[in-house]
Amino acid sequence: MGAGIVGLCVAWFLQDEGFRVTVYDRRGVAAGASAGNAGWISPAMVAPLPEPSVLRYGLVSLLRPASPLRIAPAALPATWRFLTAFAAHCTRRQWLAGVAGYAGLNSLALSSYQALAEAGVAGRIENAAMVAAFDRPQQAGPLRHELQSVAAAGSLDCTVDELTAADLRKEQPLLGSRASYGLRIHGQKFLQPLDFVQSLAASVRSRGGEIVTGERVSALNSRTGVVRLDVSGRGENFDVCVLANGAWISELARSAGVRVPVLAGRGYSFTVKTPEPLPRPLYLPAARVACTPVPGGMRVAGTMEFRPADDPLDQRRIRAIVRSAQPYLPGVDWSAPADAWVGPRPVTADGLPIIGGTRADGLFVAGGHGMWGMTLGPATGRLLARCIVTGRPDAALAPFDPLR
Ligand SMILES: Cc1cc2nc3c(=O)[nH]c(=O)nc-3n(C[C@H](O)[C@H](O)[C@H](O)COP(=O)(O)OP(=O)(O)OC[C@H]3O[C@@H](n4cnc5c(N)ncnc54)[C@H](O)[C@@H]3O)c2cc1C
Repeated sequence: MGAGIVGLCVAWFLQDEGFRVTVYDRRGVAAGASAGNAGWISPAMVAPLPEPSVLRYGLVSLLRPASPLRIAPAALPATWRFLTAFAAHCTRRQWLAGVAGYAGLNSLALSSYQALAEAGVAGRIENAAMVAAFDRPQQAGPLRHELQSVAAAGSLDCTVDELTAADLRKEQPLLGSRASYGLRIHGQKFLQPLDFVQSLAASVRSRGGEIVTGERVSALNSRTGVVRLDVSGRGENFDVCVLANGAWISELARSAGVRVPVLAGRGYSFTVKTPEPLPRPLYLPAARVACTPVPGGMRVAGTMEFRPADDPLDQRRIRAIVRSAQPYLPGVDWSAPADAWVGPRPVTADGLPIIGGTRADGLFVAGGHGMWGMTLGPATGRLLARCIVTGRPDAALAPFDPLR
């Protein structure tokens, strides 16, 4: 269930294990968070979202509607318990434990993309060093610490260079004088998410899979050997079902004993034209904005807005991203943001995904990857497919037990 990056990767790797697959999506391929995101395949940066600075940021944001982290006051009553649990995980100790938890899965991120590419998934994946730009060298401390912690936990080979103001301008000529210091993170990749997910869907179809769009799964139950789904009012039987429906996953997963709530942390993006190409992805940590090269310009992505997944796009969030990024990139034409998009990151309170079996026979979940579903989708599909075949989860999945 779910034709986003995670559901399609699960389907693809299940096909590799010899399964015949059907993927249902209530809307279409990449109709959730997997279309307009930044498209960074960046294991060097994979860490749980809850950490001490996010808590400070979150509290201030309640008073500042233009803040990149936004908890809509109307959403507070429904999200209060989740946010309290999220806040309880914003400690250094829990964050480090989460980084260690991610290590096994994260170390398979790039090789799993490689497996897709070698088997003919056509979506283009580009090698790139990411550049993070700061107003002052002191601002770089938290990201440098994060990169060191992630690399140490996963034995990742991650080289990071320091960039002076002059280096930065050479590396990213679109940057103005506001940024005076940078970090260059080698060995990462990026892709155009919608193109890639569509290529993946085409590959699932070409290997005999069925992708049924415009069909909502509204209920399920499992008896030994058969999982029965209610699909747009009719019953369909399967041997195994994987819920991979992103920020909507909790509604059905709860009935299978999954108590870890998944909430929508909505992010926004748009494209702008640039006077010259953005040579490689650019991160502006102070603005919490990620810029990705696209033909003719760049996609600008940011914001974490806790609000129901299906609420309409809020143009004020787009304007807030423009205001925060503009001072860093003064030569860009910010007057006409195009392709405005909002997508719900599936966020858990402890910042770790849910991947594995449930209390219901034959029913599995794969979701809750928050900020890192594009990076970890293929590794998730690969390990979950193995787990379904062997009946034993790989040790790398242990931290993501859906019944934790
Ligand atoms: C602004 C932004 C930037 C991001 N940048 C990055 C990045 O650079 N790198 C990275 O690794 N990650 C990034 N992410 C995170 C990433 O986009 C998500 O983690 C990932 O897309 C989640 O994928 P998913 O397949 O779990 O869910 P989704 O892509 O949301 O897919 C879920 C699908 O389930 C379908 N569905 C829902 N309910 C039902 C139902 N009842 N029946 C049938 N179908 C249903 C939906 O229509 C949807 O298509 C970003 C996210 C945002 C918002």
